[in-house]
Amino acid sequence: MQTRKYSPKLIVHGGAWNIPAAYHAAHLAGVRAAVEQTYPHLLDGGSALDAVEMAVQILESDPTFDAGRGAFLNAIGEVELDAIIMDGRSLDFGAVAALQNILHPVSVARKVMELTEHNLLVGAGALDFARQAGFPELLPEALLTERELEFFQQIKGNPGFRTHHPFKEGPGDTVGAVAMDKDGNLAVATSTGGTARKLPGRVGDCPIVGAGAYADNELGAVSATGWGESIMKVLLSKTVCDTFAEQQAMAAARKGIEILARKVNGLGGVIGINTAGEYAWAHNTPYMAMAYWQVDGVVQASIRNNG
Ligand code: ASP
Repeated sequence: MQTRKYSPKLIVHGGAWNIPAAYHAAHLAGVRAAVEQTYPHLLDGGSALDAVEMAVQILESDPTFDAGRGAFLNAIGEVELDAIIMDGRSLDFGAVAALQNILHPVSVARKVMELTEHNLLVGAGALDFARQAGFPELLPEALLTERELEFFQQIKGNPGFRTHHPFKEGPGDTVGAVAMDKDGNLAVATSTGGTARKLPGRVGDCPIVGAGAYADNELGAVSATGWGESIMKVLLSKTVCDTFAEQQAMAAARKGIEILARKVNGLGGVIGINTAGEYAWAHNTPYMAMAYWQVDGVVQASIRNNG
């Protein structure tokens, strides 16, 4: 029996927030590079799961984004990282939360999925697991950028601070990737340093299945970004995946963001791919950095496109 071959798809984001104009070029270059470097592996027959891990690793290494190196600092000036990866074939997923001193939380999340009987490891337990799995443990300074240190000093005394509207301009953002491979399998990964000046131990939407990411070969795959406390309440990624069954891809993404705004006054964005391989994206923040591979082989990158 001949199995159907699909044209591979890849879409990534570098966060939805009020990205300052001075950072637009770096955001666009970062998301474009992640697609350009990862897509050839999909063309060579690589799996969607490998592709989303690879794309997110590239974005975690890029200090432009609030993931891996360049993450926001929490209320005591430390970096705590959250990540998730999910395989649409089996609904298997792995996630880590409040993980410190590791550059690629997405890869630790994958090992949680593949090597343990668990789905989500947090804090000291996650770090211990990462060490045992052979991930290099870095000094805290290795993930810290001068930009985030300055920003921390600037906002730490702000008494009116709230994670919803913490500041006018936010340097750095969550990253995510969604892919479909030649076999039509879907996968997603999302990784973040969370919100600036979060309480130590705070976990956002990113590593919560259905909130920061969801992938199901029978529905589609979605990665979310934005105000995590609200994204969690509406399980934004799963909501958009469910809507793929009823509506066109772009309409489903818009519906998810409409639900986020209407029900919980949330701010954020989503990217996704439905089972037909159609891209979807939407956001209600001023900007969302994103890039995807077009059928004609051109990488399309944008920062202000409300879908
Ligand atoms: N969703 C992330 C969080 O709340 C932040 C972001 O997407 O920028 O942790």
